Order: sequence, then C-alpha cells, then structure tokens
Amino acid sequence: MNRRQLVKSGFALPLAWMMRAQADEPVLVGDMHTHFFFRDGQHKTTPIAETMTGGKATLVAWALSGDALWIGEQKGRGFVQTSVPKPGETFGWFQRELQRIRRQLVRQNLKLVRSGRDVEAALAGEPHVVLAVEGANFIEGDIGRVKVAYDLGVRHLQLVHYSRNTLGDFQTEKPEHGGLTDLGQEVVRECNRLGILVDLAHATRECVTQALAVSRAPMVWSHGSVTAGNPHWSMIGWKARLLRLADAKAIAGKGGVVGVWALRQDIGKDLDSYADRLAALADQLGDDHVAIGSDLNGLGPHSLVNELADLQVVIGHWRKRRLASARIRKLAIGNYARVLRETIR
Ligand SMILES: [Zn+2]
Repeated sequence: MNRRQLVKSGFALPLAWMMRAQADEPVLVGDMHTHFFFRDGQHKTTPIAETMTGGKATLVAWALSGDALWIGEQKGRGFVQTSVPKPGETFGWFQRELQRIRRQLVRQNLKLVRSGRDVEAALAGEPHVVLAVEGANFIEGDIGRVKVAYDLGVRHLQLVHYSRNTLGDFQTEKPEHGGLTDLGQEVVRECNRLGILVDLAHATRECVTQALAVSRAPMVWSHGSVTAGNPHWSMIGWKARLLRLADAKAIAGKGGVVGVWALRQDIGKDLDSYADRLAALADQLGDDHVAIGSDLNGLGPHSLVNELADLQVVIGHWRKRRLASARIRKLAIGNYARVLRETIR
C-alpha cells in the first residue's frame, strides 16, 4: 500500500499519530562526566534531583575533583597544579568531600549506582547518580584505598587529573613516569576485581596504552574530544587535552567508550554543533563507542551544556537529522550503561 492508498483507506491518520507519538517519546540521557559539587558553593547544587527528572537524565556521573585544592587556572594555559599536598591531605579531602556529596544525595533522595541492577533501573527511567572521582590522588601509595572508595559507593574512577600523583602521567604537564606506574597498573587490576569503571581522561597516550594492556574490562575516556593531530603537554590546556584518534580507536577496540565534552572553543557555537560532533565521532569509532561527557559545571563560561535539560536539545537535533532511534539511544545513554554493566556487575 502506498501513501496515497493509505490516505484513502483512512489509515493515514492513525499511522501519522503513531509516528508522531514515537517521535515524542522521551529519550533518557546519561552523562559520563559532570561536576555538581566541584567546589563548595561554587555551582548550583540544588535541586539536582529535579533537574535530573526534568531533563530525563537518569544515569549521570558526578565527579569529585580529587585534586581540587591543589590546582588553579593560569591565564593562557588552563588548569595547572599550584601546590603540593602534604601526605594524607588528598585522602582527607576525598573523605570530607565524599561525605558532603553523600549528604546531598540523601537530602535529595537520589539513588546511587552500585550494581548492574541499578543501571537497569536508570535505563527504566529512575534517576541514578554514578559516584565518580576525577584524579585518584587520594590513593597516594595505598592500594587498599581503592576498596575504601568502592565501599563508599565510588563506581567510576579517573586515574589522573591536573596534578602529579602516584598512578601515572597526565596530558597537561611534562610526563614523569613514562606512562602508568606499577601502582597505577595495580589500581587498574583492583578496579577490575572490585567492579569499578576506569576512566582514562586526562591521561597521556603512554598511560592509555599501558592501561589498555593491563585492564580486563572495557574503559572510558569520559570527556574530551578526538583529534587527527598530535597533542603535546606544552600546548594550551584544552588542546593538550585532546585524544589522538588512534588512542580513541584503541579504547573502542577494547569495548570502551569515548565521551565528548561541550567545550565551545572546540565543538562550535551551539548545542546542534555538539550533537553533530557526537554523531561524527560515532561515524569514526562506531555507534557503540561514543557517549555524552559534557563536563557540566567544569568548563566555566565556555560550556555549551549548562543544564541537564540541554541534553534533550541534543536529542531533538539528532531526531531532526533523522538519526536512527537505536543510534540515538546508544549515544544518549546506552553506551555508558553498557560499559558500566560490563564493569561493575
Ligand atoms: Zn576533566
């Protein structure tokens, strides 16, 4: 039956209605990297539960910045290390900050992702937070602290950030370890054993390669973007932070996922540009290996994503561009959910 026959037969209306209903059906979103508690009082911290529900964001990683007290913004460079923590200080900060976050979660009646079942619940529409740490400096020299973090609810651990630590080299400073340290390798294995997703964002290419060789589970690069060029630590912050295409492919090759940040300088002028960049990266890495990693509240005035609800604009743009709905679901939430499920059990 062609369209005209359909119209004649009176089926056109219900069919159009059905198609429309499908197009209007909300798409749940996830975000592999946000900061709701970047610094005390620095950003809106309430009411997050409502913004998650309103934005249909049901699987959102909240990253505690593990070196927040020892870094600062330097004109022309971006974030750099400004001081050296004394022994025990990063662990103390981690514990205090995590308690504060957990109090907020309780106050707002928000659920934590602790198991694969929680990921399923998030996919079914119930908002969940993935407790993440950006920069595992709190480990210092004690592998036992990975278990401490696990017991406190951490399920997503980024090894390095903007300051020197015992685990490995990061992109924005001259490397000192030649990649991942022995302890860093142990941390990856311990994360595999316990069920914590390892995040390679900010790590040098050597660090990425070595972590991929060690890990039994897929890993993510939660936020950033991919370049055909060769980033170097001496470049301005955000350019040094790009991920080489070969490394992105290696992460994807092991079942991992690369997240795209919403940094205006890199991505373009608006949320449509952000949506297009995500889709373009999926063309390069495959539909199963790209996700949203907006870095909400972490990019200051340079962010294209300023509310979780903005991510629904991204979905609207994908629909306008007629991306297949299966593809939209993967990019929006499915890929982060899958990699979590394969890791945290
Ligand atoms: Zn970051």
